[in-house]
Amino acid sequence: MQHRIVVLGAGYTGAVAAGRLAKRLRREDVAITLVNAEPDFVERVRMHQLATGQDLKPRPFREMFARTGVELRLAQVTGVDVDRKTVAVTDANGAEELPYDTLVYALGSRWNAQGVPGTAEHAYEIASRPGALRLRERLTHLDAGQSVVVVGGGLTGLEAATEIAEARPDLDVALAARDGLGDWLSPKGREHLRKVLGKLGITVHEHAAVTAVEADRVATADGEAIPAAVTVWTAGFAVHPIAKATALEVTGSGQIVVDGTMRSVSHPDVYAIGDAAMVTGPGDKPLRMSCASGTPTAWQAADAIAARLTGGKLPNVSIRYFNQCISLGRKEGLIQYVTADDRAVQAVLTGRLAAVYKELICKSAAWGVANPTLGLPTRRRRVTQERARGDVLHSA
Ligand SMILES: Cc1cc2nc3c(=O)[nH]c(=O)nc-3n(C[C@H](O)[C@H](O)[C@H](O)COP(=O)(O)OP(=O)(O)OC[C@H]3O[C@@H](n4cnc5c(N)ncnc54)[C@H](O)[C@@H]3O)c2cc1C
Repeated sequence: MQHRIVVLGAGYTGAVAAGRLAKRLRREDVAITLVNAEPDFVERVRMHQLATGQDLKPRPFREMFARTGVELRLAQVTGVDVDRKTVAVTDANGAEELPYDTLVYALGSRWNAQGVPGTAEHAYEIASRPGALRLRERLTHLDAGQSVVVVGGGLTGLEAATEIAEARPDLDVALAARDGLGDWLSPKGREHLRKVLGKLGITVHEHAAVTAVEADRVATADGEAIPAAVTVWTAGFAVHPIAKATALEVTGSGQIVVDGTMRSVSHPDVYAIGDAAMVTGPGDKPLRMSCASGTPTAWQAADAIAARLTGGKLPNVSIRYFNQCISLGRKEGLIQYVTADDRAVQAVLTGRLAAVYKELICKSAAWGVANPTLGLPTRRRRVTQERARGDVLHSA
């Protein structure tokens, strides 16, 4: 009897978890299925690059997972029934149900319009590939001097505004930030940010809470109207509504609540990782939606599942922050070093070196996905029949 592990989502975390499970467990004992809507890996951390006309390396899953023992299923997940232990999927051939013994939920997140009027109709997003491609197309049709407003002063907003300004110096690029510019950074980090944005000619609107998006402007809470031929919305991510529609315990925003092994606190045969999970990190703070903390959640879940199936010792992968790596165009960057719970310390790395460092981080994240079973010591362990049936899983 094979233990059926179904992994939903082949983003940064799902793909890594599937590969790690394949490396840890004997093929004859488990059937690992990885379900993803798209046939190739989307490097979400580069969506601002895609939007500004750069071409990304194609990374087809079929090649990545060939000979790994992971079965790839290209389909749209439409629902999960945690009582019947099935996943509903649809593809070109119609609808189907996939039964599981263990589920790894890694469907990630998408943009968050936050209910601001006009956003859904007029704003562009870069949290997905279709969104980035739509913006790319729109930007190519903008004439010199036309305005682009990036809403959101977080990491994604900073990366988007600088990338657009660098790629299209002829455009009038502005950034609308709800708080002060980079006010979570160290003084040196803030200073560098201001310098680079200034050099790129980006107008910064601080303490500007955007309350409405129209076809040619955005309105702020204090009555300002900022001209915007294009509005790029980067104010936060939202998780898919699928988890919220299940009996799983989720937060108000729909993230699945998990314990330290990434196992659902309400359903022990379900694990959640990456953006889809509410994970408590150092200092009892929730981890932010990022690859930086998402990838260790994938390692932790895979190792915990393998340990529970084989009777091994439960792992304790360290999940902490080291730095925030911010690209500021292709030639500039800012590496802000942080405490374990993500608070800025004095040290920063800036300039060209920081840009190269960030590029290496992006490359290594994609490498980890593209080589799902390489680079790990092979420690395939036998799954006992009793554990495969789940008898022991629930009590461990
Ligand atoms: C522009 C941008 C820049 C970023 N920069 C950084 C950065 O520098 N550093 C950092 O740490 N983080 C960064 N992030 C955040 C990071 O990309 C996410 O936190 C990360 O992708 C989360 O990984 P994940 O595996 O949870 O989800 P994802 O990578 O989003 O993967 C989810 C997968 O599930 C699939 N999927 C979704 N719904 C369905 C469905 N219904 N059926 C089937 N398949 C489905 C998707 O196609 C995708 O393959 C950035 C994000 C953006 C948008």
